[in-house]
Amino acid sequence: MGTSTDSTPVVVGSGLAGLTVARALAPERCILVTPDDLTAGAASMWAQGGIAAAIGEDDSPELHAVDTRRAGADLGDAGTIARITAAAPDVVRRLHALGVPFDLAADQALDLALEGGHSRRRIAHAGDRSGAAITRTVAGHVATLDSVEIHTGLHARRLLTDSAGKIAGLVLRSASGAEVTIDTDRIVLATGGLGGLFAHTTNPRTALGQGIAMASRVGARTDDLHFVQFHPTALDVGLDPMPLLTEALRGAGAALLADGSRFVDELQPRDVVAAAVWAQAQSGRRVVLDARDVPDVLTRFPAVADLVSAAGLDLASDLLPVAPAVHYAMGGVTVDARSRTSVPGLWAVGEVARTGLHGGNRLASNSLLEAVVSGEAAAADLIGDTWRAGGDVPAADRESLRAAGEAPGPALDEVRQVLESSCGVLRTAHDLREAVDRLDAWTQDDAAYVGWLIARSALADPRSVGAHRRVDTTAAGSAA
Ligand SMILES: Cc1cc2nc3c(=O)[nH]c(=O)nc-3n(C[C@H](O)[C@H](O)[C@H](O)COP(=O)(O)OP(=O)(O)OC[C@H]3O[C@@H](n4cnc5c(N)ncnc54)[C@H](O)[C@@H]3O)c2cc1C
Repeated sequence: MGTSTDSTPVVVGSGLAGLTVARALAPERCILVTPDDLTAGAASMWAQGGIAAAIGEDDSPELHAVDTRRAGADLGDAGTIARITAAAPDVVRRLHALGVPFDLAADQALDLALEGGHSRRRIAHAGDRSGAAITRTVAGHVATLDSVEIHTGLHARRLLTDSAGKIAGLVLRSASGAEVTIDTDRIVLATGGLGGLFAHTTNPRTALGQGIAMASRVGARTDDLHFVQFHPTALDVGLDPMPLLTEALRGAGAALLADGSRFVDELQPRDVVAAAVWAQAQSGRRVVLDARDVPDVLTRFPAVADLVSAAGLDLASDLLPVAPAVHYAMGGVTVDARSRTSVPGLWAVGEVARTGLHGGNRLASNSLLEAVVSGEAAAADLIGDTWRAGGDVPAADRESLRAAGEAPGPALDEVRQVLESSCGVLRTAHDLREAVDRLDAWTQDDAAYVGWLIARSALADPRSVGAHRRVDTTAAGSAA
């Protein structure tokens, strides 16, 4: 593919968010670019638990909203939370109608699972391979659409803007190393999360926050980047990425033990459980997840059983060593209700976006939901012309914007170590300042730039709130 002069919208990334944009845009044309095959390399494929929606008779979107807000330490945006939780039941019904093989109860209604932080059973799931079931179904549908021009083997590197600061195109690199430019006035970033910037993560290797770097380099606003969720139960057996032991295991009765004793209510929100696990490990105790008493654990959690078995352990009979690992980015490129960023012609959807749904901490199984709702909102907005007037997102803080450079950057492992040691479960101003200073010299490199933005955001927030825990200040942010 050479240089194109088409002004067709371009969707970057083919996880659930990018696929949703392409699906919802039809019959309007779009170009979908992705480094791998349609579903490969996407965190969406790895989701085990499922997608949250207030479908049960004892449930309501209002209750879902209350749980979402509470998990997010009351930092979420009330309007966004209400909008996305209200959309959820219909999203799940439409995915079901599209062919997603959700598990059904005996009465043929959707079987709803319970996860940490939820006050009701509301997780629609397909065994413990929910993400793969949803993503494959949507990808299968997208692959049949004449309106979607799919280009695999393309890695986006830079956004281009015109003299007015509006989107003008995109530079990509092909698998052979050739540079490809697409001219377009509309780009949707659907590039996923940033967990791969940390040494311990459950995220796929593609999750390097490159969408955040590309957007920030053309002036897009980002927010909440220091709100990084640590999953409390990643299997700690030296693998990278670390296999995830889904929250649903704890919902089904698996217990966390430190030196043989329980130490935390396993169904509290993730930040609380992760901090408790971290504290036990710091004090030298061996933390394990005990799923031996979960009824039918091997048949109910076949994907987890496979992951555990590949690590040489048995889910039904072994105690499983666990540690917290970076799992999800609550922050990202700031968007409004139509998924518009602060840069005209640029939308962000899914995990790369900061919609305001999660606040300081994501409620389990809210992110596949967010990927669909934000993707559909972008698709609706891409049609027509009103986006040219700009969105509701305020301009970026100029100090956060840095240009790309050609000088060789640090090794990715170096960035991962800096972030792991400074921006982990418990943080101090001293460590954060060191990280900011170190990464400051490397911001021409995308991974280091996003790391710098994360550390800078964490340093600027003295509170201990949501997933951001400072041990050198009080909860309210004064010196401890
Ligand atoms: C192990 C695990 C379990 C999870 N379980 C759940 C769960 O049960 N429920 C839930 O709601 N959420 C869960 N999550 C979170 C959820 O999977 C993600 O937040 C969600 O799938 C994000 O979707 P996305 O489309 O934004 O990103 P992704 O699915 O990660 O897709 C990103 C896409 O962008 C591409 N890409 C990246 N960089 C570039 C680039 N520079 N150029 C071109 N393409 C690029 C990638 O290759 C990929 O195609 C889980 C996450 C993990 C890692």
